[in-house]
Amino acid sequence: MTAQRIDGNALSQKLRADVTFRTTALKARGITPGLAVILVGENPASQVYVRNKVKACEDSGLHSILEKHPASLTEAALLNRIEALNQDTSIHGILVQLPLPEHIDAQKVIEAISPAKDVDGFHIASAGALMTGMPGFWPCTPYGCMKMLESIGYELKGKHAVVIGRSNIVGKPMALMLLQQNATVTICHSATQDLKAITLQADVIVAAVGKRNILTADMVKPGAVVLDVGMNRNEEGKLCGDVDFAGVEQIAGYITPVPGGVGPMTITMLLVNTLEAAERI
Ligand code: NAP
Repeated sequence: MTAQRIDGNALSQKLRADVTFRTTALKARGITPGLAVILVGENPASQVYVRNKVKACEDSGLHSILEKHPASLTEAALLNRIEALNQDTSIHGILVQLPLPEHIDAQKVIEAISPAKDVDGFHIASAGALMTGMPGFWPCTPYGCMKMLESIGYELKGKHAVVIGRSNIVGKPMALMLLQQNATVTICHSATQDLKAITLQADVIVAAVGKRNILTADMVKPGAVVLDVGMNRNEEGKLCGDVDFAGVEQIAGYITPVPGGVGPMTITMLLVNTLEAAERI
């Protein structure tokens, strides 16, 4: 059996076409959805990420601004910028690219963003809303994973979903979203004993660790759905995920590739969140 691939590029294209359509409708009402992206310092990976986010906004007809600040920016100055953007009516979403320089308290910065503009979904109010099933912004990466499951018409009710990784931006919100759809959820982490015994029971596996080959074919039940969030480099420097793709593809029912899987969905859901922030006005 060879797994069917869930193509994140194709699904993104479809969802982004809908974003463009809804953006055009909003513009007719005099509202252009706007995203502010703040980058502090010169982290090369972050520079690529913010460029991609701004370009995706432009391609879909959203307004975006990119603020680049030197690594020497003080925490107080950054908090002032966020407050100004909170008040700016042309901006509906604010994103501060992480990581921040060490002298800046990232959590304090995230909490300074108005929850109404927290399109990354990292604010404690957004986390609380997700936990309690209230409306709020969902973190983009796990939200994208849920859209991928939806795209294959997967019924999560009663299924066993195993999430490997428990970060605040991927693993934990992922588990809550799966739970909300009535899956039985197990969260694994670095202290989990016998990961294989747990993943072998899973109907759905989400790997969000950041380690190559954390999930191999012998750890997967035939027909399971495998979503690979990981972003790593192999010996040749090529982008790869957490899953041994070649092996797991022979066992799973569905699988997401890296690249071209969860990655493009993350930016797409950022556009969706920004659009929805503007639609709520
Ligand atoms: P993170 O904050 O480093 O969290 C990694 C998690 O993996 C932790 O919970 C850790 O457990 C767990 N872990 C580490 N070793 C493990 C092991 N041997 N067995 C089981 N669990 C283990 O990373 P993250 O921010 O969640 O990101 C995870 C991966 O996704 C990274 O590769 C990142 O680059 C990628 N990512 C991709 C996207 C995208 O758009 N595609 C977006 C975000 C992140 P402990 O909590 O016990 O330490």
